Amino acid sequence: MTAQTMEAYQPDRSLPAKVTRRLTRWSVASPLKASPQRTQICFTFDDFPKSAADTGAEILDEVGAKGCFYACTGMASTTNLSGDLFDADDLKALTAGGHEIGAHTQTHLDCARSDTATVLADIDTNLAQLAAMGLETPVTQFAWPYGETRARLKPKLASRFDVARGVLAGPNGKGSDLMQLSAYELDESEDSVARATAAIERSARLPTWLFIFTHDVRERPSPWGTRPDRLRRLVRLARNTGAELVTPSMALSTIRGKGGA
Ligand SMILES: [Zn+2]
Repeated sequence: MTAQTMEAYQPDRSLPAKVTRRLTRWSVASPLKASPQRTQICFTFDDFPKSAADTGAEILDEVGAKGCFYACTGMASTTNLSGDLFDADDLKALTAGGHEIGAHTQTHLDCARSDTATVLADIDTNLAQLAAMGLETPVTQFAWPYGETRARLKPKLASRFDVARGVLAGPNGKGSDLMQLSAYELDESEDSVARATAAIERSARLPTWLFIFTHDVRERPSPWGTRPDRLRRLVRLARNTGAELVTPSMALSTIRGKGGA
């Protein structure tokens, strides 16, 4: 997707679309059956820009944290408002560093407005392109572009992915839909930092599974990105609470009691 199309994109703001979007959240396709015994926090990056792969990953590495990078292969080696996007070398470096690569479709389509066959074909292309770019690790994670989904699509993705992450704010726990997990957006605003900070502080009192997502990590970020010092502050706060800062696969495995502490 080019910067131009990213700017032009608007979710369907009609009343029926808004109602459907709300109802979709409550149409649970794959409920999490266990409760987190310790807080798991996943720092994640969508699309994903090179600044996430280098600066973002470095900030995680400083405290031994592992993150997830959702790759939209149609954006690979292109440039948009988030800066230069990832390439094959980034996939290699991130997986070598213990970070996880997730799927994010090939064309960054609005899954709420596309028919099921189109979405599934787009996802298959995304996975095939990641393999063609040399990614050898299995892709078990997905992030909905724009956070947009449909109730009928969610069960279809459950046979392809362990987790699909959305963009609606909130913590995750027992009963949360693994096909639309909640996440706190970290964008260029101070408010988004405050919301993520509050969520991390709350998670220190009640074990939960938190996702935080952003895009580029630059001194002058896009509207969807964040500054390095802000990301670093959140990562260190999360580390100081004693939470496990892990990939979504590691978090799910720990919550299900299949490995981890
Ligand atoms: Zn995206």
